[in-house]
Amino acid sequence: MTYSQPITLFGGTFNPPHWGHVKPLKQAMQALDITKVGLMPCNIPPHKQRLKISNQHRLAMLQIICELESSLYIEGIELESDEVSFTFNTLQKLKKNNQQSLCFVMGADSFQSFETWHRWQEILQLCNIIVLNRDNQPLKRLKEVTQYISCGPHDAVSLADKQVLSTSNGIVVSCHFPNVAVSSTLIRDKLEQKDYPYLETGEVLPLEVLKYIKQHQLYERKIP
Ligand code: ATP
Repeated sequence: MTYSQPITLFGGTFNPPHWGHVKPLKQAMQALDITKVGLMPCNIPPHKQRLKISNQHRLAMLQIICELESSLYIEGIELESDEVSFTFNTLQKLKKNNQQSLCFVMGADSFQSFETWHRWQEILQLCNIIVLNRDNQPLKRLKEVTQYISCGPHDAVSLADKQVLSTSNGIVVSCHFPNVAVSSTLIRDKLEQKDYPYLETGEVLPLEVLKYIKQHQLYERKIP
């Protein structure tokens, strides 16, 4: 049987994008034989304050990431809508136009609050979920999920497990990799404090993204 790749999307605010998004994602792609992932910036996040940065700047930073990582592309569907970016609505729209199965990638912290997401049970009917499990935490088990699979540096995923992602929905794959201890909040705080040495190591975010941030004087002060 040939393994048909799912359309795989990684949703987030990417304010700004950093290595904590990209490195675990790349490891999960390798473990699961996924060769392309769409980075999907939300417009109005349902679980966060309204963003104080323009979509244009977030897109430009994601574009830099995609130039560095050719296996990633931008899926801009949520930016085309003025509504709150509910994942259920987005996946439903994508499903109408595609026969392929869908996979949605999220961090373990997002998955732990998944039951608060709009129409979450129906999300599981539309896609499979890949969890970037940075803290190696046991995932809460949802009765709507047909199968939980773990993978990581020490757990090889069998081919059968990979193929399971070509089925249409209801599977959660928890990918365990070493934590990349960074968040967008931490980067915004460091920029506000002008703590450039920390950021200039290149360990936290790509230096090209940092250059863009400096050029456009983003995140220099907290906007009330
Ligand atoms: P903020 O600090 O502003 O809340 P963030 O760094 O969590 O942002 P988002 O763009 O909101 O970034 O996150 C998109 C997804 O990436 C979320 O599902 C989140 O859990 C995951 N994520 C963020 N940072 C990491 C990381 N260091 N390792 C693994 N997953 C991460």
